[in-house]
Amino acid sequence: MVFAYDTEEALRAAVVLANTAVPPDTLTTLEELDDFYARFGYTGRRDRTPAELASLRAARPLLRELLTADRDAAVELVNDMLAEAQAVPRLVRHDEYDWHIHATDNERPLATRIIVETAMAMIDVIRADEMSRLDICADADCGNVVLDLSRNRSKRFCSVACGNRNAVAAYRQRRRAD
Ligand SMILES: [Zn+2]
Ligand SMILES: [Zn+2]
Repeated sequence: MVFAYDTEEALRAAVVLANTAVPPDTLTTLEELDDFYARFGYTGRRDRTPAELASLRAARPLLRELLTADRDAAVELVNDMLAEAQAVPRLVRHDEYDWHIHATDNERPLATRIIVETAMAMIDVIRADEMSRLDICADADCGNVVLDLSRNRSKRFCSVACGNRNAVAAYRQRRRAD
């Protein structure tokens, strides 16, 4: 584990959410929002309304900007996001999760909680000077954000599909060169 569990989980969720905006958009229905919500085990307020969906969709450009920013730019974004949401960090323990940080109430809108969670997670990334854990997928046509939490920093592609496509292309290139 590179970061604490809640930090890694918040980063994973932010990357998935930001990547849904890369065409073809995959966060357009309440069912897709359900899937995202279930996948990351969120607790707290859940409206399940078009307005909630719209606010998550609207948060995506900011999340992408933060996840792909250089370190100093990320600091500014994090500070703005936490101030805007009036975040108050505190330690909590609930369900099966040991002590971890919540910086917003469970009653705040889901989009606000995600923005604050992402900002809090990026505090760890920035302090550890680990911005290189975040990048754009090495596939030339992809555009997804990649989160590399591997020990040997070996992850260059956002997905197995992107990795395989490039492995096949590299193989063909080598064959042509022979
Ligand atoms: Zn929690
Ligand atoms: Zn990719």
